[in-house]
Amino acid sequence: MAANWKMNKTTKETEGFINGFLPLVKDVQDVEIVIAPPFTSLPVAAKLLGESNIKLAGQNVFYEESGAYTGEISPLMLKDVECSYVIIGHSERRQYFGETDETVNRKIRAAISAGLAVIFCIGETLEQRESGNTFNILKRQITEGLRGITANGLVLAYEPVWAIGTGKTASPEQAQEAHRFIRSELGNLYGDTAGTIRILYGGSVKPDNVSSLMSKEDVDGALVGGASLKPDSFAGIVKYI
Ligand code: PEP
Repeated sequence: MAANWKMNKTTKETEGFINGFLPLVKDVQDVEIVIAPPFTSLPVAAKLLGESNIKLAGQNVFYEESGAYTGEISPLMLKDVECSYVIIGHSERRQYFGETDETVNRKIRAAISAGLAVIFCIGETLEQRESGNTFNILKRQITEGLRGITANGLVLAYEPVWAIGTGKTASPEQAQEAHRFIRSELGNLYGDTAGTIRILYGGSVKPDNVSSLMSKEDVDGALVGGASLKPDSFAGIVKYI
């Protein structure tokens, strides 16, 4: 279960969240929990999470190791502040920051070769869904995004753009249909290993809809935006059973 805080929370607010969240999930053992705070909160989060088994993720990364790239963060810098994951290809980055399948692919390559696990986001817009192009779009994003990349350290997140931050969740059946398609495309790339790649669903996941989504065979977890900002709400998602 992964929390994507987007551009929310100062260091103080991060501290408040973690102090509230840790006791709520202290007994959780069989769910991997990942939090992606803004870059500025990563050091304080790393310190507070300490020996807990909650992992940290960056929300983005650049594909070069270092150099004259004002405003960017390298994979090594994320490792340096204890990140084990990075989110790549989120639709907000594609939509507002000009990310393409090609830059996403370069970022995934760089992150994996630096030893970061990657949460690779894909998903169709409402227009693409309504014009019957969902599978074409997912296929293109997977083929281009994962060109030359091995399955090691890879997690997929299916996030229909029309469900992100809108309160409109894909039905469990819609999610399953897309996840099954994604798994079969991963099968074309990775053979049987595709069965072991986790595919998260993202798009208005909340404590009260997570278990019906998780009941579906190919839904292995969730990437959560809005509902991950409060400790009790994200803990409710983590403890969905
Ligand atoms: C996200 O941004 O990854 C997301 C799924 O957001 P929300 O849960 O707010 O729809």
